[in-house]
Amino acid sequence: MARQAAPGTVREPAGEAPACVRRPDVPRLDRVFKAAYAAKPTLLFDIDGVLAFLAHTILTAVNARFGTSYAIDDMRRYWVESWLPPEQGDWLADRFDEPDFYATVAPDYRAVDALLQLYARVFRVVIATDRPASAADVTRAWLARYGVSFDELVVDGPGSKATVAARHDEDDPLIVFDDDPRKWLELPRPGVEVWSPRRVWTPNEAGLFNVTVFDSWPAVVRRLTQ
Ligand SMILES: [Mg+2]
Repeated sequence: MARQAAPGTVREPAGEAPACVRRPDVPRLDRVFKAAYAAKPTLLFDIDGVLAFLAHTILTAVNARFGTSYAIDDMRRYWVESWLPPEQGDWLADRFDEPDFYATVAPDYRAVDALLQLYARVFRVVIATDRPASAADVTRAWLARYGVSFDELVVDGPGSKATVAARHDEDDPLIVFDDDPRKWLELPRPGVEVWSPRRVWTPNEAGLFNVTVFDSWPAVVRRLTQ
């Protein structure tokens, strides 16, 4: 049986995707596919910092506005408002509320390719983002443009991922792909893990419960499909 979306979430059909990752809609999956689908962890993909290079957009925008010359290696902390001068941080915080700010973010094709491979292997794929709900249309168009397939899309502000995680437990596990170290403290519990692609701002995760930092998307695919 297809799981129901929680109130306030946005369910969308899969975007237009390359033929190699097409699969039947969930309600029409044949019995073998349905069994495989139910037996695997659900995969939640964050967008900014995972499927897309938002940090580069952020620094380019700040540099253009303020004449600064920040490079990606300057971004040692995830929350840019915490290390930028207040004037720059406040200006940037306002940009995060503008849907169009997200329209030109470049995709990380390595991550998108891994998502498509896992989707084709009948993993349930949820895309959830901390972007405001007003960015839902821009986000949906962005996902379609880059051929990202998914079962569900949640664009509902900073609580989006916790909303999805609350539906999962050891009997219905979830892996959250997210680059925000704060999610390491907020989301993991039995049945819910956070896997982070290593970025400039990624701290040492050693010893944290259900947290994994990885360097290679192909290795992630191998680990989940071997
Ligand atoms: Mg992120």
